[in-house]
Formats: sequence, structure tokens, C-alpha cells
Amino acid sequence: MDDEIERRIAANEARFREVNEAIARGQWPGEEDAVGFLCECAQLGCNRLIELTSPEYEGVRAHSRRFVVLPGHERVGTEMIVETRPGYLVVEKIDEAGEAAEGADPRE
Ligand SMILES: [Zn+2]
Repeated sequence: MDDEIERRIAANEARFREVNEAIARGQWPGEEDAVGFLCECAQLGCNRLIELTSPEYEGVRAHSRRFVVLPGHERVGTEMIVETRPGYLVVEKIDEAGEAAEGADPRE
């Protein structure tokens, strides 16, 4: 895959993560109801929701390279599945994709 496409995919994923940050901030601290977070996969046009609680999302977001995606939305080769949870997967970016994700982290 060429660099330009790689960059666009990384930008797309970073944008979803920014939306999810806003969703997480909109919740009261300690609130544990499941809310709909956007699938953070690389597929253009994917706007599916994943149900998880804010604390669960926070746990994933504590790692710059980790994203939440629906089962089947992971990208083999640029990320690895680190956890399989009911309804969604936690993936971790590897190599250059991981560095791009760290660089685009809104928390850094
Ligand atoms: Zn997706």
C-alpha cells in the first residue's frame, strides 16, 4: 500500500477517535452505562457503533496505539488483536501504523 493511502487511513482513524473522545467526555464521571462509540476501523464509510462503557473505552485509550473495532473490521498486517470482548475487539497498531497513531493522539 502506498504512503499516501496509509496517511489517509491514519487520518480517518484519528478523526473517529476524536469523536469518541468527545462522546467519553459527555458522560458523567463514573457513569457506567454502555454508550455507542464509533467503530475506529480504517474502512471508509464505516460509521457503525460499538457499545461499551466509558471506563472500558478509557482503558483502551490509555494506550495510544489501541483502537476499538467491530469483529471483522480489524486490518490484518497493520494491527494485531490484543483483546476480544463481547461485541468488539481491541486492536493495537504495529510498525509505522503504530507510530502514526501515536503521532495523531489527541491526548499528546
Ligand atoms: Zn468499522
